[in-house]
Amino acid sequence: MFNTEMHKLGSNRSVIRELFEFGKQLAAKEGADKVYDFSLGNPSVPAPAEVKTSIIKQIELPNSTALHGYSSAQGDPDVRKAIADHIRTAFGVAADPNLIYLTVGAAAALCVSLRALKEEGDNFVCFAPFFPEYSVFTAATGATLRVVPMQQDCKMNLSAAEKIIDENTKGVIINSPNNPSGAVYSEEEIKKLCALLGAKSSQYGHPIFLISDEPYREIVYDGIFVPYLMNYYDDTIVCYSYSKSLSLPGERIGYIAVSPKATDAQNLYYAVCGAGRALGYVCAPHLFQRILIDCVDLPADVEAYDKNRKLLYSSLTEIGYDCIKPQGAFYLMVKSPEEDANAFSERAKQFGLLLVPGDTFGAPGFVRVSYCVSYDMIVRSLPSFRALFDTYKK
Ligand code: PLP
Repeated sequence: MFNTEMHKLGSNRSVIRELFEFGKQLAAKEGADKVYDFSLGNPSVPAPAEVKTSIIKQIELPNSTALHGYSSAQGDPDVRKAIADHIRTAFGVAADPNLIYLTVGAAAALCVSLRALKEEGDNFVCFAPFFPEYSVFTAATGATLRVVPMQQDCKMNLSAAEKIIDENTKGVIINSPNNPSGAVYSEEEIKKLCALLGAKSSQYGHPIFLISDEPYREIVYDGIFVPYLMNYYDDTIVCYSYSKSLSLPGERIGYIAVSPKATDAQNLYYAVCGAGRALGYVCAPHLFQRILIDCVDLPADVEAYDKNRKLLYSSLTEIGYDCIKPQGAFYLMVKSPEEDANAFSERAKQFGLLLVPGDTFGAPGFVRVSYCVSYDMIVRSLPSFRALFDTYKK
């Protein structure tokens, strides 16, 4: 009667959502102060004051019909220009406003890009650990997702990628800073990947696109350098979002930027516009497009996340946990003290700790700890982390 795949997706909650719901039930039973919810990636830092000022300015403008009306499908021209100017200034790339397409966050940017690229028989490739929705988004295009197995240090597993990318690979998705590992791929890794994709594109006689999923681009620590992929590889499509950098995940605003140097860039952009149309996006939220005019150059406020990162990493390491030190985003991966991270996550629940098992990210044997939470909650959670660890000593 209805589509079984869609039914499956809608009726089976993701592991992350399951944990979040469990946390709510536990809080109702035991009290909210007994639950340490590290499950979700919802920013805990408020949106910058400039966003509020800009919203008020916009809604007080006389022409509310225009403000709340449709924009052109690809987004307002002056908003696209503001984004292109930002990219030019920040990364030295001659971004073209006519190759920018405003989207409903990074999720839609990915869905539209994959749909725009996918032809019969194509596959897409990504590196573990990876954002689990990639499987859903690629499946929705009818393509398969091939996952490059994770290296224990969460660096790019290039030797495995070389074997996995084949003549049917249309694109490789990368996500740096990474959810769930917090890793930032180095310039050396990026150069090697680009060389590999260049060689494979020549070998197979068609471009293999690099799809850069970068909602955490500005959330980095210790001044680490995040290479801007258009500077390294011509066939690049950037999927960006203001969900994390400006703490606006519920407002659903982001964009696709097609590299001006991409093969047949103009026609690729038309395919992007066509995919947005076919998927029924119509246009990105117009009020928040207008906000970008004022806020496109704002830096992300990473101070609180950095403080959380330092506390969590040093405390968990001191307790005895084996952690991957995050360089960006707001996630920390911890090695499970037992082989099965699902069993570890279950045991953690008994201590009020909600930790996401890594299997869902292609990282078996690890859990993800989201530290976009209050500093106070981390402090209060530490005795539970210690008590949990102690159960493995017995
Ligand atoms: N990509 C990654 C790696 C993410 O972690 C997320 C959200 O958590 C998204 C994409 C989707 O972001 P958005 O809220 O902009 O759709």
